[in-house]
Amino acid sequence: MGEKNKSRIVTTPPGPKAAHIIESLKKNCYDSTFTYPLVIENGGGCYITDPDGNTFLDFTSNIGACPLGYSHPAIMQVLSEMSKNGAHKIAGQDFYCKEHAEIAEKFLSILPPGFKAFFVNSGAEAVENAIKIAYRRRMAQGLPVLPGVSCVGAFHGRTLGALSFTFSKPVQKAGFPELPVIRIRFCTDDSDPEIDAAEKILQQNKVAFVISEVVQGEGGYNFASQKFVKNLRAATRAHGVPFILDEVQSGMGRTGRWWAHEHYGVEPDIMSAAKALQVGAAAFRAPEYEPDQQGVLSSTWGGGSRIDMAVGAATIEAIKGGRLLENAAEMGGRLKKGLQELVGGRGGVTQVRGIGLMVGIEFEDKVRRDAALAALFRNGLLLLPAGQKAMRAIPPLVIGREEVDEGIEIMSGVLG
Ligand code: PLP
Repeated sequence: MGEKNKSRIVTTPPGPKAAHIIESLKKNCYDSTFTYPLVIENGGGCYITDPDGNTFLDFTSNIGACPLGYSHPAIMQVLSEMSKNGAHKIAGQDFYCKEHAEIAEKFLSILPPGFKAFFVNSGAEAVENAIKIAYRRRMAQGLPVLPGVSCVGAFHGRTLGALSFTFSKPVQKAGFPELPVIRIRFCTDDSDPEIDAAEKILQQNKVAFVISEVVQGEGGYNFASQKFVKNLRAATRAHGVPFILDEVQSGMGRTGRWWAHEHYGVEPDIMSAAKALQVGAAAFRAPEYEPDQQGVLSSTWGGGSRIDMAVGAATIEAIKGGRLLENAAEMGGRLKKGLQELVGGRGGVTQVRGIGLMVGIEFEDKVRRDAALAALFRNGLLLLPAGQKAMRAIPPLVIGREEVDEGIEIMSGVLG
């Protein structure tokens, strides 16, 4: 499926051209979450090239934002068509365009019946709007501003509203103001003593909403236990509390189903999506959660890049047409099995866990994880950290056996 290509390091990265770009950025911009000195120039299939002629096998998909890998024909077609239209960016909440209508139709076709959508620019903004929809619903029920319930280790974005419910990294929260929040433990095991904490909290407190991921992404690729997610759904339903699922990282086929929550047999009341969708979206059950007044929700652009919306719509079609959900399940199983052989080896890997192409690799400690990430990068394989001491493998959904095996081979060489 992926291009017949191989990772190839011709100049130890960063080479001179990449180093020049990095130097310029470090001089002019705030130094954010850069993991290693990779400068992306172009890509084909599951491979990324840098300006110095290196080719990397990409097990990051740009944190899931490039689910079709690079230079996918369906996306190249959209880019080619859009290159003929000079009105590429519109104020998407103030004016209409066909790309907005098309992405909405495609997006709703992969959601349970009865949902509506509101498009925005990013994942954090999708979460902002999801929680606003929930606050608004509680306000319509005559309730004041109440705390939201969120999980320890959760990541919901870094804008101030979303950040209040994010707990994955202390550096992102320290010193910033917070909306009222009650934290519960994110249970990965059915036998966890706190498995029904949500029910107890909702019995004792009025809350605005419960928000959670079913797979904690930034928090470390932690997979919720079946009982935990079912308990969240049952408790929120019993107490009439909006249940928000954040599928920004886990959604759009990453786990072998459209949405990770499908593995748990539950449906949310409100959901956030982004990354693979190219734009952000808050989806909500209508009419119950639809704000009762026009203009309650808006944003400057509202996903108003027509190119992004067209790419998002084409991505959904390509996932359907290319049987990429099936591919994610099959290739994810192959990847997980191959990587599990590393557990307990020299590289300090203690556990490999995953659903579909959302695979977490846990290390003994952060030092070994960070050293492994850097060594893999120098050997032409891109992965990303997750949580305190895990790394994540999230290759494009188009990945084939050869690339999976190539990645496992590089990892075995570096870590085994
Ligand atoms: N929610 C989850 C689960 C995420 O993983 C992320 C980003 O990683 C966000 C929200 C925020 O998305 P963005 O970075 O597009 O603002």
